[in-house]
Amino acid sequence: MEQNIFDDPQLLSADLADTIVYDTQRPGAHLVIFSCVHGNEPVGLEASNDLYRRLVRHELALLNGKITFIFANRPAYQKQVRFVEQNLNRAFLEEFQDTLEGRRAQAIEKYLATKKVTFVLDLHSIKMEDLRMLIINRDWSDEKVVQLSETPIVVKDLLNKVAGSTMHMSDRLGCEAMAIECGDHLSPNGVRVALRHIDLSLHYLGMMDTHWTSPEELPADIEVYNIVDLVRISTGFRWCIDDLHTGKRVPQGTLYAESDSQKYIATEDLHLLLPNPHFLPNDVNSGMVTKMRKMRRL
Ligand SMILES: [Zn+2]
Repeated sequence: MEQNIFDDPQLLSADLADTIVYDTQRPGAHLVIFSCVHGNEPVGLEASNDLYRRLVRHELALLNGKITFIFANRPAYQKQVRFVEQNLNRAFLEEFQDTLEGRRAQAIEKYLATKKVTFVLDLHSIKMEDLRMLIINRDWSDEKVVQLSETPIVVKDLLNKVAGSTMHMSDRLGCEAMAIECGDHLSPNGVRVALRHIDLSLHYLGMMDTHWTSPEELPADIEVYNIVDLVRISTGFRWCIDDLHTGKRVPQGTLYAESDSQKYIATEDLHLLLPNPHFLPNDVNSGMVTKMRKMRRL
């Protein structure tokens, strides 16, 4: 494998660690691409390397604008862990938290606040079923979802239930943002999914007028999940239903989980969304209950 672009000191920005700016010097949009917000998710890093190399080799050209590549959590990446002290994707909080990730979040936000960002693309992967999904910071129309994403799942309203993510930071910067779960951490298809969404973003922003990646055959229906609540882990937590998977229907009145202190009963017909059905000791959430609808891709 070629050297990681972020290991070349000559490419790095002087103003923020592990950041590279590719600027056409022509007025246009400013796209920020985050990779490794979670250290054990290399897909965004590989996609950023691939895109940057193609740009400098003139295999691809931007019409205008600039791209800022941020390798978000190098210490976690080096240890191949999700985070070192705190989930960076919950550390973008107004109140500063003095952890490794809290300091990094503060530095990133302070830097970007001066850079007139148009759009944030945050690339992740997941440990379950090779699931691909889109998470957005605003309530996009169905048309816009189809224009900017190729995932079978869209997640809305997550930002009302958690705090401190890159999506929240983007809102404070006044720009649009999407996070893409590109599939399983080890999926051979993940980098292709990441590059496809970079392509769609550049096209949407008017920075490119032709596509350099190909569309994928997808189911005609997209599942849109509106988060009703997070299932929070507490002592003695266990699921009370079998066959746990994303999309599982939980009819009204079903006892679906319990802990020593709480019973979880569906107050209406719900569907599960489970980024990780196997809990980690320091997980806060074990999943989400949602209202799900299907949307035609057209
Ligand atoms: Zn992630």
